[in-house]
Amino acid sequence: MRADSQPTLAADKAHVWHPFTAHDAWCAENHQPLVITAGEGAWLIDSAGNRYLDGNASIWTNLHGHRHPVIDAAIRDQLERVAHVSFLGATHPLAARLAARLTGFFPPATLERVFFSDDGSTAIECALKMAVQFRLQTGAPQRRGFIAFDHAYHGDTAGAASLGGAPFLARFRDSGFPVTRVADMDALAALPAEMLASAAAVVIEPLIQGVNEMRPWPGGMLAALRAWCDDRGLHLILDEVMTGFGRTGSMFACQQEAVIPDFLCLAKGLTGGYLPLAATLTTAAVFDAFRGSPERAFHYGHSYTANPLGCAAALASLDIFQQENVLAGLPAKIEAMAALLAGLAAASPAVYQVRQCGLIASIELRQPAATRFPAAHLTGARVCQAARAHGLLTRPIRDTVVLLPPLCVTPAELAHAVNALGCAIAEVLPSD
Ligand SMILES: *Cc1c(COP(=O)(O)O)cnc(C)c1O
Repeated sequence: MRADSQPTLAADKAHVWHPFTAHDAWCAENHQPLVITAGEGAWLIDSAGNRYLDGNASIWTNLHGHRHPVIDAAIRDQLERVAHVSFLGATHPLAARLAARLTGFFPPATLERVFFSDDGSTAIECALKMAVQFRLQTGAPQRRGFIAFDHAYHGDTAGAASLGGAPFLARFRDSGFPVTRVADMDALAALPAEMLASAAAVVIEPLIQGVNEMRPWPGGMLAALRAWCDDRGLHLILDEVMTGFGRTGSMFACQQEAVIPDFLCLAKGLTGGYLPLAATLTTAAVFDAFRGSPERAFHYGHSYTANPLGCAAALASLDIFQQENVLAGLPAKIEAMAALLAGLAAASPAVYQVRQCGLIASIELRQPAATRFPAAHLTGARVCQAARAHGLLTRPIRDTVVLLPPLCVTPAELAHAVNALGCAIAEVLPSD
């Protein structure tokens, strides 16, 4: 069946180190990882020609589908000019245009500066360093800590990882920034004044935490947090790496509560899911603290900052939002998804809870008495593995199956995905 994938698998198992992967299991003789060789719209195709709905949008990145003609053409067009050029001491047309387009989503004189980097982690890393250096240069050097939320995930680089509450980040937590973690707004309000006096900013994933098994925040919390930060002179850093670009139903999650942060971090969907590119947006008030003498500048940047191919993909993705009226089409898809998942929950006793925010959904599986399955059962992973045979590709977070399809998904494709999941749950967890 998969004869042509054997050289790939042999070289992979001999030489590749995969992210977030236990390699005894990966390298085991009988483990046959999928070899994805093509994509088309919301679908991925493996080396044996099997088709899978891309149920987690290729790890929360893809918006308009794979091989979208508009993005493909934009990248090819830029490739005819130049693939990469340093952003140090020079600029290029697409980065300037993209910065203007991104700031244009917000009212004038709010988020008006864009710093480019590569990934979600670096978008956050930039915001953290900017927030600390801002305090150093505005007479508040003692403000060098951050307040983050329990179970948050803001990326893997040292600074970003120090904010995170995921257990796998704990071993590196001491190598980052001083961070105070709180559960919710009540815990935030209870923090002692000395603690607040040493903090530069509060960091949050707005509307919904991703890696924390897709848990939505209570409605109104974001607006309350903005007001709380304003009252205490703390900056608000929003991590929209997952929620940005239509995922929650609006272009940005913060717009749903009319909140404008001091720093907005964007990555995953920025290029429509094509290329690594990230952006940290901030205000003139922050930017101005970095003007003046040269040592006040922000000495930070990566080799591929503002890569022209990435900028071409990002601009094309924003064009597609307009040409295809993407946001206007979302409510019908979000409702269809909710109805399908309600049906799944009703039909499958193992579905403990369905959580949804826009086109981000999670299906948490538990034992009959609502207790969690033992972690060693790998229930979520087995369900996702079984779903492949029914044409759905996604990943769990522990025993929570994530359904986060490209925005271009159709109601029929959503029905296919939820049906595949229902079949997989019934196979792995028969109810009688
Ligand atoms: C994925 C993610 C990150 C990290 O982005 P990378 O591109 O993986 O570095 C940060 N924050 C959130 C909310 C994410 O979902």
